[in-house]
Amino acid sequence: MDLHFLGGATTVTGSQFLLETGRARILIDCGMFQGSPNESVRNRVPFAFEPSQLDAVVLTHAHLDHCGLLPVLVREGFSGPIHCTAGTAELARLVLLDSGKLHEQFAKREARWEKRHPDRVEADDRAEADAYEAAVALAAEGNAVPSEATVMASDAASDPEVALRGQPPAVEIDLDTPLYTQDDAEAVIPLFRPIDYGSELEVASGVHATFLDAGHILGSAIIRLRIAADGERPERVIVVSGDLGRPNTPIIRDPTVLDAADYVLVESTYGGREHEPSDEAVRVLAETVRLVDEANGVLLIPSFAIGRTQEIVWQLDRLIEQGAIPQLPLYLDSPMASKASDIYRKYVDYFDEETGALLRSGDTPLDYPNQIITNDVEDSKAISRAPRPYMIVASNGMLTGGRVVAHLRDLIGDPSATLLFVGYQGEGTLGAHLQAGTKSARIEGQDHVVRCKIRSIGGFSAHADEPELLAWLGNFARGRRSGDVGFPRLVFLVHGDPEAQIALEPKVRELGFEVHVPRWHERVELR
Ligand SMILES: [Zn+2]
Ligand SMILES: [Zn+2]
Repeated sequence: MDLHFLGGATTVTGSQFLLETGRARILIDCGMFQGSPNESVRNRVPFAFEPSQLDAVVLTHAHLDHCGLLPVLVREGFSGPIHCTAGTAELARLVLLDSGKLHEQFAKREARWEKRHPDRVEADDRAEADAYEAAVALAAEGNAVPSEATVMASDAASDPEVALRGQPPAVEIDLDTPLYTQDDAEAVIPLFRPIDYGSELEVASGVHATFLDAGHILGSAIIRLRIAADGERPERVIVVSGDLGRPNTPIIRDPTVLDAADYVLVESTYGGREHEPSDEAVRVLAETVRLVDEANGVLLIPSFAIGRTQEIVWQLDRLIEQGAIPQLPLYLDSPMASKASDIYRKYVDYFDEETGALLRSGDTPLDYPNQIITNDVEDSKAISRAPRPYMIVASNGMLTGGRVVAHLRDLIGDPSATLLFVGYQGEGTLGAHLQAGTKSARIEGQDHVVRCKIRSIGGFSAHADEPELLAWLGNFARGRRSGDVGFPRLVFLVHGDPEAQIALEPKVRELGFEVHVPRWHERVELR
């Protein structure tokens, strides 16, 4: 059986792994590449397989970097089941429809830009085409080059057919059309097949899947695949971590501890890094609210709509309950976040002990007292006229778009306002520049002097940091040695940038495992 690493290989985004057994073909995640143009152009590279020939998709969770290419997969001919938890199915619907809308808007904006700059169209199109060609070439290289996991992959490497099969077909691609539309996204929804955590299902002939809590966002799962014996190869268990959350974070249950597998695919986003303790994060949050209150100011929190917003609201609600902060009015200004919160409230059975107990005691931990939800654009604009002090939580989390940008434009020059970052700021984003202390910032084409206060909290991550990743992996080695049944034969580091993976790899080896960092489009034979 083969694993083909079609995304999330030396990148954080684009998770996509194809598992081929003699009897079945399963796709694990079908994520979108995000980030730099050179990375996002990979979304245009044709699938390395015929979508109609797939038996099933198993989906770890609803973030776009895991589900965002499903509309393309379905448009290209996939019509089988997409297995995921019910929470993931609902959140993915929300995320994919929004993404389809955004892709249509991007394409329209691009067309307008081309109309205004006819002299630059040719160069722009050529640059895009070059980036695309480079991505296709890189994929072909990954397909053709013998795998470095030599012990496991010697057969695949010596078989020239394998490389040939992996070549993407030569097709003409119009890079100016939307990657997909809302209609394409809509077509995915009927294919979702919700499954309960912990129950095993045969998702394709000889492939049994179990979804276990990953503790990352609502509905997120670690997927355990049990592959039936085939000829000389005995039954094998493959564990795919998906995005691994952190123990002891609020709302949803902690990541499941697993202690036996033959192969493990583990995410490595925070390889080489350690988060600040969550107590410290909550302390800074409380202190910031108090300072904004004293200054009679405004607190603006850019936040991702799914996961982070719910956690921040949960923390603020707890702090009020404890009397640690004054109860400032809170504006929740993100229609996407409100819809996500509605989905969170529905899945009470996914909650951890603490949040479950709060609910049973009559508390509403996913709601801030008297929060003001603004769905309408006019209501959003009216927030700036509200009596101070008050707080706004708005999307998106990196200030790259969404309603938060308009609030920032109004507040950036205001010394009594505070901008509080509660999440990772991607390289090159406005958020990253402000975090780095830039004195002036360009917002919607206008330069603004930065006079507001800027604070950052690093401790609210939804991803395990390095010690947490190693602790989770360490469970597979407990009480066993290399060669024992249940001791992983190989650990693959996926979903990480090269620097993070280089930092993490030796430490995973120290646990006693063979480790492999697959390249994009590399195929590895699993025995
Ligand atoms: Zn995620
Ligand atoms: Zn991810």
